[in-house]
Amino acid sequence: MSKRVAVVGTGYVGLTTALSLAYIGHRVVALDLDEAKVRALKQGIPPFFEPHLPEMLSLVRDRLSFTTRYEEAIPGAEVVFIAVGTPPSPEGSPDLTQVQEAARGIGQNLGEGFTVVVNKSTVPVGSGNYVETLVRRAFQEAHGGEVDGRFAVASNPEFLREGQALYDSLYPDRIVVGAEDRRALEVLRELYEPILEQSFPAPAFLPRPERMGAVPFLTTGLASAELIKYGANAFLALKISFINELSALAERVGADIQDVARGIGLDSRIGPRFLQAGLGWGGSCFPKDTLALLAMGREYGLKLSIVEAAREVNRRQRERVVEKLLSELKVLKGRTLALLGLAFKPHTDDLRESPALELARLLLDRGAFVRAHDPVALPRARREVDLPLEYAETPEDLLKGADAVVLATDWPEYRTWPWGELKPLLRTPLVVDARNHLDGKALARLGYRYLGMGVPALAPAKEVV
Ligand code: NAD
Repeated sequence: MSKRVAVVGTGYVGLTTALSLAYIGHRVVALDLDEAKVRALKQGIPPFFEPHLPEMLSLVRDRLSFTTRYEEAIPGAEVVFIAVGTPPSPEGSPDLTQVQEAARGIGQNLGEGFTVVVNKSTVPVGSGNYVETLVRRAFQEAHGGEVDGRFAVASNPEFLREGQALYDSLYPDRIVVGAEDRRALEVLRELYEPILEQSFPAPAFLPRPERMGAVPFLTTGLASAELIKYGANAFLALKISFINELSALAERVGADIQDVARGIGLDSRIGPRFLQAGLGWGGSCFPKDTLALLAMGREYGLKLSIVEAAREVNRRQRERVVEKLLSELKVLKGRTLALLGLAFKPHTDDLRESPALELARLLLDRGAFVRAHDPVALPRARREVDLPLEYAETPEDLLKGADAVVLATDWPEYRTWPWGELKPLLRTPLVVDARNHLDGKALARLGYRYLGMGVPALAPAKEVV
């Protein structure tokens, strides 16, 4: 049954939610205070890079509209999603200013019918109750009188991965909803039914995965749903940090971490995913959410040692790459380093807490010149990055006269660059592959020295030297 939905915030989470709910048949109004973003969206132009957004925007244009005004979006909605940002504050706990503003805007404009206010932003445990209070107070200030029975708050954590946001939204592993109000749970079950039952026709550009069955719908209390989100992200982060820590030992003992990871990951209790050694994790979620978890622990007098260690291993990973470059080049001051990739991972132009940028900062601190390439994030980097980087649009411009290539983001196209033809451009044919992404043996055959993370270094093949 089609519902009227409002989504507050049109970032990665809000826009994806609005698009997928409109796609499965609901009528959606998406609201953002950023006028430029809303203007672009009205013209079908996505405000950031994410696969399939333009196609999806055009498919759902009859059921999805955009506005900057709460009074247009909220009164008619049966379900209102809060999907605004929760960036880290200096003490580590998330800054809830945007959530507060959204809750106020919703409370002031609540309609006559029953409304479910759904928190999709990642917020500390207890925020559901907090949002409920803010909505209630805003309603009372605006209208006077009691708001009882007019609305209920639910938590519906988002698990999408940037780079595959629409895919994850249509084909999720699970949908988690926390609420104390049974009606709210029922409304959300109905809202998600086409996804839970996978009864919608798949878009041509996002075919349904083979063997996709019904999606589990997990209902919990508010606090549990909020903690599930932090627990999931922290666990994924520590899985990566675990293999990264082991990769340092693999280097010392002469093992190959990729073989080790394969051997570990084939254990069905462990699984192969998130066991790729590399430069470590970044992005808008893992760093912020692990920090928030630590802050929550502190608030309750608990030290979350494993999460703390995962963060420390992650920080060290960037330094390990600098140490590799130092041991090869001896001096970094004045060297030109060609950085492959700026986005925090492939298929996105999101630069928030990008490991590539953290690595670039360490190299710049050592006096190196860093010249960077990225298939999609260069325009955004030129606008947003506050580091003295040089930017290169082509492989040739990137590599000309460079002392080493450092791969920081595993964009698939880097594997197919014509590395043989490009080699003469480099001053030193040295590749430090901080994601174990390139074909090291092929590069060595072409005359490169190849270093990865936790894998044996490869010398250039003799005949080419
Ligand atoms: P974002 O910064 O990309 O988007 C937030 C949007 O909200 C912006 O467009 C901003 O203009 C808008 N906004 C801010 N205040 C507003 C207000 N008062 N009213 C209306 N709009 C307002 O953020 P995001 O990456 O989409 O993340 C949103 C939330 O989801 C965060 O809590 C994040 O932790 C969580 N989350 C993000 C991801 C991800 O991969 N990005 C995944 C899961 C969960």
